[in-house]
Amino acid sequence: MKRWLCAAMAVLVFAQPLDAYLQFSVMRAGQTRALKWQRIPVRWHAADRGAAGVSASEFQATMARAFGTWEAVPTASIAFQFAGFSGAEPFDDDGVSVLGFQDQPDMERVLGATGFLVDTVTGDIVEADIFFNSAFPWSTSAAGDPNRFDLESVAVHEIGHFLGLGHSALGETEVRPEGGRRVLASGAVMFPISFGRGVTHDRTLQPDDIAGVSDLYPDGDFRSQTGIARGRVTRNGGGVLGAHVVAFNPERGELVGGFTLNNDGEFEIAGLQPGPHIIRVEPLDDADVESFFSARNPIDLGFLVTFFNRLFIAPSGGQGETVTVAVRPK
Ligand SMILES: [Zn+2]
Repeated sequence: MKRWLCAAMAVLVFAQPLDAYLQFSVMRAGQTRALKWQRIPVRWHAADRGAAGVSASEFQATMARAFGTWEAVPTASIAFQFAGFSGAEPFDDDGVSVLGFQDQPDMERVLGATGFLVDTVTGDIVEADIFFNSAFPWSTSAAGDPNRFDLESVAVHEIGHFLGLGHSALGETEVRPEGGRRVLASGAVMFPISFGRGVTHDRTLQPDDIAGVSDLYPDGDFRSQTGIARGRVTRNGGGVLGAHVVAFNPERGELVGGFTLNNDGEFEIAGLQPGPHIIRVEPLDDADVESFFSARNPIDLGFLVTFFNRLFIAPSGGQGETVTVAVRPK
């Protein structure tokens, strides 16, 4: 059985429900399987048309750079191959992965979106398509253009989805008086809200993105050289669903995040550099829950930020001490 899934990057607000952060997954016979590509290199096509200010060849070159950014992660084994220009539309169910512009003026807050065709038995991604909304002004200029969205930055984010990564909650936003949100800071390209026009910041992957792709497509000794934090977030003895758990490595200044993904409040953060980490548990931003979880999940938001009461030491390979954090109601 094959099924389309979809993820979108929002300019201001994101409204596409997903079940899990870090990696998309399918449930089969009680087992969770991560969505990922099995056939590598992954072949992709560029649509044979551009948009205002971006020619088809500039579009293709920008996508190639964005794919190259993920391919360059030394601890991940993913690879891509440009298979040519195509007249096909993104989101056609044709077995061919196509990236291209589409004019979707009604999607007034969506810069781009990624859809997958997945084998729901194995979790294999069979096809993934990305559209960029040409209702917005785009730039491929090396320095960015203050009046236009940086195509490469949004492409790096969408290709994260294309690989099977979900959103990261490592970021801070503020509500704008005119509506929507403004990003103040983000610790991941996979944060769901764009920085806005002119900002090229998301061309560069951050430690959370690198941990995510390396965990999904581990290269060589990645698993034996990084550690896993596993544990549970509880409230009055019961599990907390949807708590945001962040591991901060003060020595390296790196943040890697994850979520509790079941009713027992269990979480796992893989790909941590060996050494001490501060573990912080916080509720998701209540205005932004559906960037991370489907609305049908009863996400717990009513608790105080709580730290694990000692340092977590990530080992070189395998799991460190089990982390249990009991939070108190807000
Ligand atoms: Zn996204």
